[in-house]
Amino acid sequence: MSNTQMIPFIDLQTQRKRLGDRLETAIHKVLEHGGYIMGPEVAELERQLAIFCGAKHAISCSNGTDALALVLRAKGVQTGDAILVPSFTFAATAEVVLWLGATPVFVDVLPDTYNMDPKSLELGIAKASSLGLTPRGVICVDLFGQPADYEKIEAICQHHKLWLMCDGAQSFGAHYKGRAVGTIGMATTTSFYPAKPLGCYGDGGAIFTNDDELAAVLKSIRVHGQGSNKYENVRVGINGRLDTIQAAILIEKLSIFPEEISERQTVAQHYHQKLKSLNERVPGLIQIPYVLPEVTSVWAQYTIRLNQENLKRTLGKTRAEFMKLLESIGIPTVIHYPKPLHRQLSFQNYPCADDLSVSEKLAEEVLSLPMHPYLSNEMQQRIFAGLSSVLEVGALV
Ligand SMILES: *Cc1c(COP(=O)(O)O)cnc(C)c1O
Repeated sequence: MSNTQMIPFIDLQTQRKRLGDRLETAIHKVLEHGGYIMGPEVAELERQLAIFCGAKHAISCSNGTDALALVLRAKGVQTGDAILVPSFTFAATAEVVLWLGATPVFVDVLPDTYNMDPKSLELGIAKASSLGLTPRGVICVDLFGQPADYEKIEAICQHHKLWLMCDGAQSFGAHYKGRAVGTIGMATTTSFYPAKPLGCYGDGGAIFTNDDELAAVLKSIRVHGQGSNKYENVRVGINGRLDTIQAAILIEKLSIFPEEISERQTVAQHYHQKLKSLNERVPGLIQIPYVLPEVTSVWAQYTIRLNQENLKRTLGKTRAEFMKLLESIGIPTVIHYPKPLHRQLSFQNYPCADDLSVSEKLAEEVLSLPMHPYLSNEMQQRIFAGLSSVLEVGALV
């Protein structure tokens, strides 16, 4: 690879080559048997997903957003209900609350893990009640692949009699103190969007739960609220199924997922070591991602924080200019997320737990570096060399 060729931010083509002709064979099999909707691969994938994380039920569905909405619908969320969500997340987490006519209440996140702040959650619950809303549940996001601090969140939910749903769109495959993502809370959702750690070649998602009754309702809502047969509708549902072809693709990808997770771990460890030594040479510029003890991340993103003032002082540059510099030497970076949800046009009029100052600061400071299982040693070297040259040239200016 030449020195200016762009490093892939996410690399799905190398993964495809690794799987060889298994994907084509799996897709071809579906084309031949013709069960394009709810074919045998869908049931097989659900069986394997449940075993993978140890949940009693795995219910596949159309995408990660519908997965969240299906659970809200199954729980009877309605107007007047408050659902607590972090502000520093992808829009889907809050958007689904509004589909049901309920009110999202935005909660701040922690400055080190970027996950829900338990203290802010307490304030959000009080805020909801003071506005005459009924706090019903919490959607907790495992941002960038790391589970939130569930012992603390669960205690608060129990105390206030709220249900807990985990938005594991970025964290499927991770663990929290010996518990797998998919087994925490009343239900966990995930997304198989192509760029997620476990992705298909289109849209897809799943819901995990140990609750038999909830599982049965979710399966009904997924197919137009069907009863015991196709043309009996016992509730209002949606068309929320996963395509059989996507299920067939996911079965193949799931077979290498554990190896891919450990490859992501290795890349993250290298980043950690190199950034630590960079931090010793150019202090106060980069905050390295922090993972809680006894918790693992699947590194959906490797997201650092750049101290704005120090960046300006040592490098004379803004984050945007720093990104341009990196891009010019073939290192792509992405901002996840440039605006917290409570500042978005679509959400700015909904209640906030407090001033959400951490979410606001993060939006100004975060930067995601290339992260995928196929980031070769050579590419990693190029990234580290690029980062140190850009930062240290700046330090001399
Ligand atoms: C991707 C994502 C979703 C939505 O998943 P889709 O499959 O794209 O609908 C929801 N929540 C979070 C945190 C996500 O990252």
